[in-house]
Amino acid sequence: AASSPRPHVVLLASPGIGHLIPLAELARRLVAHHGLAATLVTFTDPSENSASAILSSLRAAEVATVSLDDLPIDAAFKVDFADQIRRSIPHLRALLHSISFSSGAPLAALVPDFFCYEALHLADELGVPGYIFYPTSLAAHVVMRRHVAVNGAATAAGEYHDLPDPLRLSDHVSLRRADIPGGFQDRTNPRFALLLDMGRRYRAAAGFLMESTNADEVKQDDDTLPPAYMVGPLVRLSDSDEDGGAAACLALEWLDHQPTGSVVYVSFGSGGSLSVEQMAELAAGIEDSGHRFLWVVRMPSLKGPYGMEMESNNEGKDKLQDPLVWLPDGFMERTNGRGLVVPSWAPQVRVLSHRATAAFVSHCGWNSAQESMAAGVPMIAWPMYAEQRMNAAILSENVGVALRLRERPDDGLIPREEIATALREVMEGEKGRAMRGRARDVQEAAAQAWAPEGSSRRKLEELAGEWKATALGRQKH
Ligand code: UDP
Repeated sequence: AASSPRPHVVLLASPGIGHLIPLAELARRLVAHHGLAATLVTFTDPSENSASAILSSLRAAEVATVSLDDLPIDAAFKVDFADQIRRSIPHLRALLHSISFSSGAPLAALVPDFFCYEALHLADELGVPGYIFYPTSLAAHVVMRRHVAVNGAATAAGEYHDLPDPLRLSDHVSLRRADIPGGFQDRTNPRFALLLDMGRRYRAAAGFLMESTNADEVKQDDDTLPPAYMVGPLVRLSDSDEDGGAAACLALEWLDHQPTGSVVYVSFGSGGSLSVEQMAELAAGIEDSGHRFLWVVRMPSLKGPYGMEMESNNEGKDKLQDPLVWLPDGFMERTNGRGLVVPSWAPQVRVLSHRATAAFVSHCGWNSAQESMAAGVPMIAWPMYAEQRMNAAILSENVGVALRLRERPDDGLIPREEIATALREVMEGEKGRAMRGRARDVQEAAAQAWAPEGSSRRKLEELAGEWKATALGRQKH
């Protein structure tokens, strides 16, 4: 039996590094700790940021990587991504068959991420369990559950109902309508029906894999969708060297020369960029705060505040503009010695776990939030698009690890005073001390969850055990 090939899990990551990173970590864990082989299928351009490095570190863990070469490479989430997946079904089917034929390994499970739900019927066709990986907050998932519970039976636009405002997720957690993405709350929004369709398709899954530690965090009081299993947080190891490159080295070297607990890290994930005006306010706020900082500067959005910025980034790729030229005149000189700006990308996990880093100005993408908590670093929450407002609300009001910035009501701008005050509050104030304490508690809980007897480790072991047993049973027949 020692020589027979391990049962094989195939995971599907939709475009975007923020979807790829946690799924790659899940694959790595299944291989390293749970006796499975894994293949990660990706729609992400391997040249995007550190994607190729993440994938090559996976190969080291004996996970093969397959890309679907005939498909247009597109790093941005598009509403029509479902079409891409549909088109790729024959290729996926061939891939799944070739895995069993070439290695003799039985397929154990198919794990598409939340945008790859179109692949669920392949799981059904092949008789393997399909689990949807949900790379964002449990709150965002519960909002989807409510959407399906309230509107799942509706067949036409006229029958749709609004979710209540505020939306109570549990005894302790409720969300204001303003923090819920428009696609869930506005019946006239084209995404409303799309999200509902997505939710209905989820019914074909055996379960959801969630990047959370705590099943009580948000109550799941409906059975409209399959059960959700807590297998989080999925944070990369900080000692992996997947973020090489000159800029990465520069950032870490610079941190090495800063005092312990003195630096504010500023970064808005892979897609977040600011308007030119907002970038100037942020620079001024950082400057006025007087604190040390490491700022990952991206090209400004020339299409107004936030939006779906990924498209403009793609355009920027061949224009090859330098984001640093958009900083206000004299900013670099005036902050010389206490700040470092790096263009576009930093080795975030290592930055957050560096002893010099004390706070994180973040767009509240779920990976960033998990990484910050896993490093015990409090956040200054600056949500931009997608489900980030929900995440910011949960992190600031419920988890207590973030201070949320307030936008100016008339134009949505976050003024320099607001930024400087928040930075001082988190770095020097009472609130900051409390948040740091909470962040350390959460850090401890995250580490516990993956300890040998921890909840996430055991849950994954349990699922892997079921998958293997079913796979081997099927192989015998
Ligand atoms: N990231 C990084 N360096 C950067 C920006 C982002 O390593 O300069 C990584 C970050 O650690 C996280 C992911 O990219 O794992 C971004 O995911 P998140 O969910 O935070 O945001 P998204 O990019 O999906 O909006």
